[in-house]
Amino acid sequence: MSSIEIIPCLSDNYAYIIRDEQTNKNILVDAPEHVSIERYLDDKDMSLDFILITHHHSDHIDGINHLKLKYSPRVIGAKRDRHRLPQLDIEVEEGKQLTIGSKTFDIYDVDGHTMGHIAYSLLEDKALFTGDSLMVMGCGRLFEGSPEDMWKSLEKLKQLPEDFMVYSGHEYTKSNLEFAVTVDPQNEKLISRRTKELELLQKGLPTIPSTLREELDTNPFLRESELSIIDHLDMANLDPISRFAKIRALKDNF
Ligand code: ZN
Ligand code: FE
Repeated sequence: MSSIEIIPCLSDNYAYIIRDEQTNKNILVDAPEHVSIERYLDDKDMSLDFILITHHHSDHIDGINHLKLKYSPRVIGAKRDRHRLPQLDIEVEEGKQLTIGSKTFDIYDVDGHTMGHIAYSLLEDKALFTGDSLMVMGCGRLFEGSPEDMWKSLEKLKQLPEDFMVYSGHEYTKSNLEFAVTVDPQNEKLISRRTKELELLQKGLPTIPSTLREELDTNPFLRESELSIIDHLDMANLDPISRFAKIRALKDNF
């Protein structure tokens, strides 16, 4: 097993540190900035051995150069995103596992927010690092991909074991929650989850991680085929991708 710790960065980003206790390797997921991460590592007198990158946006990579100079980690990211991730030392792709220390990661292409975006999972730790694809009660905006791209990505993540913990790239839960209740007002699990998450937010605590089960039950972007949502949004004549596209468009204008 390993421990996974959350480092809040910038205004609403999260980076994660995976500590591989068997080999003493420390793995960072995304590098939104260097200041918070450096403080975290130095406080605990930790090394930084690897950085896993989910996608090329500046709020996920801006810390890389400084961290590389100071700690010399090896930087890992998608082969498909290589052209805009010049700091990569190791390229990964879907279908090939990545082994670091005692940890084995699976890689998933999750296009939509960007093309070449990837997610990483750790089976043994039941952890899934989703960046700006699947989020707590939400999903990333479609900057580069189509609704179909993101829908397919989310369908893929839905197949993972439902006790997997979802570690996403942002604290967007408040706005996601407010939107979700407008789409899925009859969902009792959503209503009770809302109370729980608002309590965390009021205390200034992260709402991350969630479980995939919670997302399946309450995330409207995974629930485009729920009858109550189809009914509520009057989408009976639409196919699943068009229903997803409609929910995404509603959120964009929310
Ligand atoms: Zn992004
Ligand atoms: Fe982001």
